[in-house]
Amino acid sequence: MSGTQAATHRVIDDVGTQALADAHWQLDEAIAFLGYGQGTHAMLKSSRRELTVSIPLRRDDGTVEVFSGYRIQHNISRGPAKGGLRYSPTVNVAEVRALAMWMTWKCALLDVPYGGAKGGVAIDPRLYSAAELERVTRRYTTEILPMIGPQHDIPAPDIGTDENVMAWMMDTYSVSHGHTVPGVVTGKPLSLGGSLGRSSATSRGVVHVALAALRSIGVDPVRSTAVVQGFGKVGRDAARFLDQVGVAVVAVSDQYGAVFKQSGINVEALGRHVDAAGTVVGFPGAEALDGAVALELDVDLLVPAAVEGVIHADKAHRIQARIVVEGANGPTTREADRILANAGVLVVPDILANAGGVIVSYFEWVQSNQAYRWSLDEVESRLAERMRSGWEDVTGFASLHGLTLRAAATALAVKRVTEAHRLRGLYP
Ligand code: GLU
Repeated sequence: MSGTQAATHRVIDDVGTQALADAHWQLDEAIAFLGYGQGTHAMLKSSRRELTVSIPLRRDDGTVEVFSGYRIQHNISRGPAKGGLRYSPTVNVAEVRALAMWMTWKCALLDVPYGGAKGGVAIDPRLYSAAELERVTRRYTTEILPMIGPQHDIPAPDIGTDENVMAWMMDTYSVSHGHTVPGVVTGKPLSLGGSLGRSSATSRGVVHVALAALRSIGVDPVRSTAVVQGFGKVGRDAARFLDQVGVAVVAVSDQYGAVFKQSGINVEALGRHVDAAGTVVGFPGAEALDGAVALELDVDLLVPAAVEGVIHADKAHRIQARIVVEGANGPTTREADRILANAGVLVVPDILANAGGVIVSYFEWVQSNQAYRWSLDEVESRLAERMRSGWEDVTGFASLHGLTLRAAATALAVKRVTEAHRLRGLYP
């Protein structure tokens, strides 16, 4: 690839730096729209607390490796800090800062009484045994103990982490405090106080807003087509729920490739194939397709449900979908956002679209703190109600002020966080 081609491919090479630039730009726009001053802007741009730690791991073969870990609390004005923990080899401080800021906006937008945080460990979890991941998790948790707690900062799963990681974190925290504290993390296994409906909550929320978005442009979901990028924690159930409600999921991709079927993929069967093969590639019920091409298919709905920055300037010109619902955090770069808006593509932003996860995390935290369990129906109907009112708030604000859904969502969230700052006052 020539230098110029590489430059147009992605403006900033490092995903984390790009994500933080995008997050800052979204905040800049919101501040300008709301007419807030430089002081508010500066406060909301910086993280409240950042901790970088070294995590030495004794490997199963006796050798030692050291990883960098982070926990960043962007804002705690509306409540305890809240946000996931990511295990990914490329995680850096810029990425965690961006993700923490987005958590603040997400919680404010959906009126969940939390601030925003994020954690990360620069490790590829696929290359380590379960015992090694347990040691990394326990050491990381020990290093960040001063920051976390059910009233301080409540981690949850994100890319590369799961309910087992949450169980180890909960245990490490609890042992260090001498008693069991289920409310210190969410996304726990059910038998340790996890919530019914938590593991599929992000996907459920994605599908709630995807259906609302389709209807808003006059498309009947049962006659619509969709592409889902990513078949992990968010994409897999999002594709399954879309399939269940009658949307034809014509393509699904993962990091290894994509599969395509014009009449719609049987997502349950695809799930069984992935459980056995570890990838969507080779699924006998569909044709093979290049993963990059899947994003460019002419469909009603595109759900990027993998990582940041996949819809960049180059890619945005080729998007033919009418609606993009951001299952991932930060999948659309600033330039791409502009291109999509100019092309009339309706982008439902991450801080609304994927908020189902943190909404049910909140429900889990409430249940853990009360030592009580809600039924699946109760969790799902409350989730649906919050997603519906989030959708109405954002679309209402956008049409009132002539904003994109992202600009409206960010402005609404920034407004709520700033209101909390104003009421509390600046100390001292
Ligand atoms: N990692 C998820 C997110 O990015 C969930 C966070 C949480 O539940 O705290 O929204």
